[in-house]
Amino acid sequence: MEQYVGKTIYNGIAIGRIWFYEKNQQQVKRVKTDNPKAEIARYEKAKEIAIAQLNDLHNKAVTDVGEANAMIFEVHAMMLEDADYNDSVYNIIQTESVNAEYAVATTGDNFSVMFAQMDDDYFKARSADVKDISERVIAALAGEDTRIGDVNESVIVVAEDLAPSETVQMDKSKLLGFVTRLGSSNSHTAILARTMNIPALIGVDIDNSWNGKTAIIDGRKGLLFIEPDEVTLAAYEAEKKKDDDAKKLLKKLKGLPDVTKDGKEIKLYANIGSVADVANVLGNDAAGIGLFRSEFLYLEKNSYPTEEEQFAVYKTVAQNMAGKKVVIRTMDIGADKQVDYFNLDKEENPAMGYRAIRICLDRVDIFKTQLRAIYRASAFGNIAIMFPMIISVTEVIRIKEICEEIKTELKSNGIAYGDVELGVMIETPAAVMIAEELASQVDFFSIGTNDLTQYTLAIDRQNSKLDSFYDSHHPAVLRMIKQVVDSGHSAGIWVGICGELGADTSLTENFIKMGVDELSVSPSFVLPIRKIIRNVKYA
Ligand code: PEP
Ligand code: MG
Repeated sequence: MEQYVGKTIYNGIAIGRIWFYEKNQQQVKRVKTDNPKAEIARYEKAKEIAIAQLNDLHNKAVTDVGEANAMIFEVHAMMLEDADYNDSVYNIIQTESVNAEYAVATTGDNFSVMFAQMDDDYFKARSADVKDISERVIAALAGEDTRIGDVNESVIVVAEDLAPSETVQMDKSKLLGFVTRLGSSNSHTAILARTMNIPALIGVDIDNSWNGKTAIIDGRKGLLFIEPDEVTLAAYEAEKKKDDDAKKLLKKLKGLPDVTKDGKEIKLYANIGSVADVANVLGNDAAGIGLFRSEFLYLEKNSYPTEEEQFAVYKTVAQNMAGKKVVIRTMDIGADKQVDYFNLDKEENPAMGYRAIRICLDRVDIFKTQLRAIYRASAFGNIAIMFPMIISVTEVIRIKEICEEIKTELKSNGIAYGDVELGVMIETPAAVMIAEELASQVDFFSIGTNDLTQYTLAIDRQNSKLDSFYDSHHPAVLRMIKQVVDSGHSAGIWVGICGELGADTSLTENFIKMGVDELSVSPSFVLPIRKIIRNVKYA
């Protein structure tokens, strides 16, 4: 058995035989021509064929991965109509008197390098897209179809790299997973893999001698096993069976509304920490995202994420959710989430220290950068913002002033933004006690039971020695939840729970009876909770 490490794109398990996919790399030759006009005509014809193929792919992708994700093929078709791209092809044919294949390949290479050198992950990932469209046109010039070879059994595809079009063309029922050496987690191939729930790894040191061998992809740990031993194989088969059983539950409940027996609708949302989790949200059929822990964006970097970097992430999430609610929690740095470049002082009690909204209201420039990115992204979907660790009305008033400043600034620069609901997290006993006053300031409450329990019971959530003292069903916490729901409802706002307690299926019925309007849970809990919601009565 050999074991390799890669970067996870989608965290499922796949077990099966490897099919090593080697592209028919087009060897493009530079050929002189006396008739550049005829070459331009050949290019135009090939481009037409490529666009028609992309339209077909788009239609197939809409069925497989939804409109939002299928959009990449519309974008590809648009790239082929791009004036700069076309001018470059015409220029090369005319000024160098060369064949269309060479002009397209050169243009593709140039544009691809240009994108790759951009200082933005999103544009960097477009480098692969421009290569993909150029290869498609070159294949059309040669009269070839670019369809990936048909396989007649279910396989794990291993390849140097996969273009988005190749991923979508594969017969989904036969694609167990894929492993590539190249690719980025921002690429559309990666996004499609996640949306199609295909276990996938990138950055693996692949080898074509693997063709036909049995392999296991462990997308959770980013591992690939080639010719696994019996013990490993049995362990992963058992693990996969658990996943498959969960998927069966998913199939039955997918598409059904989150409504109690007596007709009360519950917003059943999911929690995420990155763009990569969105596929899981959609795959588990959550009605929205109730908590996007944005601090992970800061945690995975070595310096402050720029406004553009954040904007690209929030926009992608909003677009992928296609109009469903996305609640972004402003960064909750501090306590257990330490980031070196913030240069925070060492504290005796970090959980009760300089963290979350306290940093934001103190270092307003960091806060404003994040808010600008979120407001800009709000033009592309249904975004709401919520603020962590609130303890006073004064904080909320100051936050709202800052939000107004951002909106005024954007407006005066002609930058669009959407209608953004503002909410606060109720995760301190102080916020519970002043919930009535807070409710008059905001559009919604989201109860962070993880911190609320820690601060109410005076039990450090990081300290495993205190486990025996920790009662997650402590009546103090449950009564606080009820109190917050009542305070929110008297002011006419909705109240949700986004802490882990929201996923505690033994409490779902209680929460519904308390009047909780929204539950935001890890994606894999959405369907088990839907099952309960549909079987209980509210009144
Ligand atoms: C909470 O405290 O319940 C919460 C949702 O926030 P986090 O777990 O990120 O602190
Ligand atoms: Mg919290």
